[in-house]
Amino acid sequence: MSGGTPTSGQVDRRFDGYVFDLDGTLYLGDALLPGAAETVLALRAMGSRTVFLTNKPLERPSDYAAKLTRLGIPTQASEVVSSTDALVRYLRRNAPDARLYPVAEPLLWDILREAGWELTEDPARIDVVVVSFDRTFDYGKLQIAFDAVRAGARIVATNPDAFCPMPGGALPDCAAMLAAIEASTGARAEAIVGKPSPHMAAMLLDRLALVAERTLLVGDRLATDMRMAIEAGMVSALVLTGATSRADVEHSPIRPCYLLESVADLVPRVDR
Ligand SMILES: [Mg+2]
Repeated sequence: MSGGTPTSGQVDRRFDGYVFDLDGTLYLGDALLPGAAETVLALRAMGSRTVFLTNKPLERPSDYAAKLTRLGIPTQASEVVSSTDALVRYLRRNAPDARLYPVAEPLLWDILREAGWELTEDPARIDVVVVSFDRTFDYGKLQIAFDAVRAGARIVATNPDAFCPMPGGALPDCAAMLAAIEASTGARAEAIVGKPSPHMAAMLLDRLALVAERTLLVGDRLATDMRMAIEAGMVSALVLTGATSRADVEHSPIRPCYLLESVADLVPRVDR
């Protein structure tokens, strides 16, 4: 996927838009990575637009914006795109009048209700089962989803992640709930809208109001961040501050445009 050997070292040009992955790229847990704030502020000062990307559907964009702001990167909620934004965009286009059953925490019920959808727990009335990272998942929810899908409901999921890294361990993520529903029904989700899907890439470009070629996406994972950027036609930059090592890159068919020690290498030098 994509061609050639990634360019190592400093990125030599400025892009009109930058998409930043969060964990492993700008911060680890609750601490900014070195140079993260200076980089975002320098790129903004050069006139570039910035958005921040997360697959995690457990908090609102405003919560991520508040965290970034607290850590030293002043951020508006409108600059954060999560898998729930990609979900709303997808459902507006593909299920605008559907009755939904979210296998999800109360936050996603609220988000979908605020966006205007009717939510129901009656399997006979459910048009789309929406599957998400759900720490309140139980057999009763599985039964409702199962009955609905067997009666013809479609399945849409927020994100493909199997687990979510946490300090000291990890939590089973959306893929676990989705697997239970798919295994019991034999049906498959028609879309999983978080990264690396094209639905998430389209959401990011909508938010930046830019075409892919003028946008650089920086992240720490080959199979999600880099794959999505390459497939969407964005310029891709992998940082080695998170989940991926230089050796992983050498052994992967996914070839990002740039391979960087950290996000600080994104700021082009203004030599003359
Ligand atoms: Mg990451």
